[in-house]
Amino acid sequence: MSETMTRLTSEDMKALIGAMQTVIAENAGRLTELDQAIGDGDHGINMKRGFDAIAADADVICAKPLPQAISAAGMKLVMSVGGASGPLFGTLFMTLGKSLPEDFDRNQFADAFAKAVAAVAARGKSEAGQKTMLDVLYPVGEALASGKSAEEIVAVASDAADATIPMEAKRGRASFLGERSIGHMDPGSCSCKLLVETVAAWISEKEQAA
Ligand code: ADP
Ligand code: MG
Repeated sequence: MSETMTRLTSEDMKALIGAMQTVIAENAGRLTELDQAIGDGDHGINMKRGFDAIAADADVICAKPLPQAISAAGMKLVMSVGGASGPLFGTLFMTLGKSLPEDFDRNQFADAFAKAVAAVAARGKSEAGQKTMLDVLYPVGEALASGKSAEEIVAVASDAADATIPMEAKRGRASFLGERSIGHMDPGSCSCKLLVETVAAWISEKEQAA
């Protein structure tokens, strides 16, 4: 990611939404399998419903400046995803949108992302190490703040999702399983990893094309 981010056009935002919708749709089965192992088996369906709802309203969402568009996407997630993850992913996007100035540099993006992750933790009454989406979001936030490249951030997200496998869940439905939650990747962490990969790949492509 370059020092100064260019302002995203409406077409850029539509392309990003399309890419996120696709990665979630393509991995819905896997996300559901992960949630079948340690939850109630709806995470893939929940996330797919959410990103399909965002994509269905992409014209309206992408007519807004980026911060408001991200907030509007978060609102869609709250309204459509359901479960525990709807309000949490919704809070992530809504707080990111609310915290981001219309023109921003990398540091401002990192600050806004950190606020968004803190809002998820507050909403979920959760913290790092409890085998939740926060176990990917915190390391990604640190990688962003420390100036890592898009490629490095993708590696951080992937390692962080893998690192949830040996954890025992302390929050969410998986925590009902206690020690039996050990040995499976946290579904919400897998979703976060996929979304980070998708956004990073889109940014890299965009930078190469520029
Ligand atoms: P539900 O648990 O209601 O079925 P989902 O299956 O869609 O909802 O989402 C489960 C994911 O939500 C988990 O894998 C975890 O990453 C995340 N999650 C659940 N509860 C919390 C929480 N309190 N804090 C942070 N993340 C959570
Ligand atoms: Mg579930």
